[in-house]
Amino acid sequence: MLVQRLRADFKLAVVMLFGIITILGVTPFAIYRFASGAPLVGAIDLAIVLSISVGVGYAWRTGRTGGTTLFLAIIYTVGCVAVAHLIGVAGVLWTYPVLLANFLLVRSSYAVAVSALAVLGVATCDPLLANPAHQVVFIATAFVVSLFAYVFASRTEMQRLQLEAVAAHDPLTGAYNRRGMGAELTIAMAGSIRTRSPLGLLVFDLDRFKLVNDRYGHEAGDLVLVRIADLVRGSTRIGDRFFRLGGEEFGLLVPGVDSGSLAAVAETLRAAVEQEIHCGDQPVTISIGATLFIPGESAADLLARADEAMYQAKREGRNRVVCRIPGEHYPPSSAAAAAHLRHRRHPAQAGTSAEANERRIP
Ligand code: GH3
Ligand code: MG
Ligand code: MG
Repeated sequence: MLVQRLRADFKLAVVMLFGIITILGVTPFAIYRFASGAPLVGAIDLAIVLSISVGVGYAWRTGRTGGTTLFLAIIYTVGCVAVAHLIGVAGVLWTYPVLLANFLLVRSSYAVAVSALAVLGVATCDPLLANPAHQVVFIATAFVVSLFAYVFASRTEMQRLQLEAVAAHDPLTGAYNRRGMGAELTIAMAGSIRTRSPLGLLVFDLDRFKLVNDRYGHEAGDLVLVRIADLVRGSTRIGDRFFRLGGEEFGLLVPGVDSGSLAAVAETLRAAVEQEIHCGDQPVTISIGATLFIPGESAADLLARADEAMYQAKREGRNRVVCRIPGEHYPPSSAAAAAHLRHRRHPAQAGTSAEANERRIP
């Protein structure tokens, strides 16, 4: 559970790591300061440990890491400046790990602002003010450390985002894969509950696709999948999410629609595929299952209901839409539904006729 959560949430893992390092690293100093007759510094060390513990506990309980990382960076910075002013050079040395922490914890613009405050705050402590040469060296070394931390943190963040995007998408169609779908479904279901607006799901599967592969070859089959993905993307709105559930089965998450609009969206898609996607002389068709999210149910239940509806469409003869609507739980926002249909381009309008002809495969 703990390991799974930390693996799934990189920011939470970073917060926990910094929290543990701070608690283990600063607590001995707090004890040492109290024991060596510096209760004020000891109290500041203790306040840092307690504040960081509270922040880490909050992030763990709520999963909100954005605010927590900024809170941690501010506490480190304030603590570092206070200690530098109280104990001098020994406190100044803490600036370097604090600068590193700032850049690893928060986005670069915040890190630059908080770190500038740390460097300015520490540069004005007595031992440095008394020796301007040391002050200049401190500012220069702090700048170099910050620059290294900035380059390292921004490269790491960029590579992490690229890896996450690769891991969440299907390379053939560019649609979200099952991994990406899990995260997107969770976000969409939570959003539906929060905004009390309906959430529709279409699951569709290509009809007799094995025949396409058998007759025209696997590459032609792949091209059909790519064309269908292009067609779906060309006819969806920004808020919609498109997934490849596996093989020749896809999902489309459609927020903000009532059952009527969802059925219309499904029928438009079915007709567009039949009309526009061909393999040889044969039109390619799809069977679609449509359903609405029931607040409180799991993603697996939602998917299973859409899947059942899709299999019913197969049993009833394929190339059709079956809606399994469990009752509308949120009043359809008529404005949202109307906007949905208005903004949803008919797939036939998604490209020029030349492009439409290109969709004739092979
Ligand atoms: P049904 O209408 O019942 O869905 O019939 P079907 O032939 O589509 O279903 P079946 O499950 O028998 O076959 C699915 C086929 O989809 C078999 C498999 O070769 C093909 N397929 C799955 N993934 C891919 C892929 O990535 N590329 C290609 N070209 N074919 C794929
Ligand atoms: Mg199939
Ligand atoms: Mg299938």
